Amino acid sequence: MHNFNVLKNDLQFKACDHLYRLQFTAGTTLKQREFPDIPKFEYDYTKFSDIMAGNCRSDLLIDIIGAFDKLTYSQPKACLKKVVFTLKDFSSDVITCTLWEAHAMKLISYYDNKQIGEPMIILLSNCRVKERQGKYPPTVSNSWSGSKILIDKEIGNIDKYKKRYVDFTLYVKSISEISALTSSEEITCVTVGTTTMFVVGKQGWYYDGCTKCTKKADVKDGPFTCKCGTYNKTSTPRYKLDIKFCHQHGSGRFVFWDRQYADIIDISAYELKNQMLAEGEDDPKAFPLSLDELLARTMALRVKVQPSYNQSSVIRLSEDPNLIKTVLDQIGIFEVVDQNLLLLLS
Ligand SMILES: [Zn+2]
Repeated sequence: MHNFNVLKNDLQFKACDHLYRLQFTAGTTLKQREFPDIPKFEYDYTKFSDIMAGNCRSDLLIDIIGAFDKLTYSQPKACLKKVVFTLKDFSSDVITCTLWEAHAMKLISYYDNKQIGEPMIILLSNCRVKERQGKYPPTVSNSWSGSKILIDKEIGNIDKYKKRYVDFTLYVKSISEISALTSSEEITCVTVGTTTMFVVGKQGWYYDGCTKCTKKADVKDGPFTCKCGTYNKTSTPRYKLDIKFCHQHGSGRFVFWDRQYADIIDISAYELKNQMLAEGEDDPKAFPLSLDELLARTMALRVKVQPSYNQSSVIRLSEDPNLIKTVLDQIGIFEVVDQNLLLLLS
């Protein structure tokens, strides 16, 4: 590229957060050259959870990818200008998207011709984030400067994304079915079980983690900077509880992580550790009595099963008797969870 201006990147909507941008002039010339090291298309997908949490700048255009979820608004085809739909990413987070004019037309014509039951993967590049408006969460829409919508086969590596979509489809399985899984790939299931006992391993009932992201701390005592960028004066104790569950004649082990503690116990690992220290107990393998209240409880669980690590993690749980009954009714009958159940446990 020859003869261009270098200007401050002060556009209302920026394609990247670089300080400067290149601007074409009447005298700019371009020539195509091969640079094998530079990929032709490169997307930097923003996670939906980051958009929902308000971690995105509204002046910066973003790329997102996800599976089409639901059409919430569309005008008749003859005067179609606007389409609103929801998109679900590979963590099952859902976001509302608005497309205008040519982008809306493209989506609707594809949508009208798609096979029922087939996932529809959508990539939106250079789109805008509209910030939270009161009770309305942030949404995404196309921008007028270079947004593209790519659907299914137009996306490179589409099979990889389809596979990930299938991976986050939930299966309903009994605990004995889960324990019998041998595949090398992880799968997400919904199940019901009753907690029976703690499995005491090398770690004890907590580990030392980052204050912000709950990742395990690299150092035992003293200050450290976590991989997430947070500077920690000291580590924070975080729950990691390996619990044996039973259902009918089957049993299995699931790990509860710190983020679920508020759902099942009223005390944080930090407070509980301090209580223990006050009682003169500093052994992490000595299980505090208050943890016993986690036992003999029946719950519906959404779990991530990793047979090759011989570990399953609880992602969400509920002790709502109606939900437990719904899951029980589906075990052994349905392979895949119905959408309502997915919502309750998401
Ligand atoms: Zn961290």
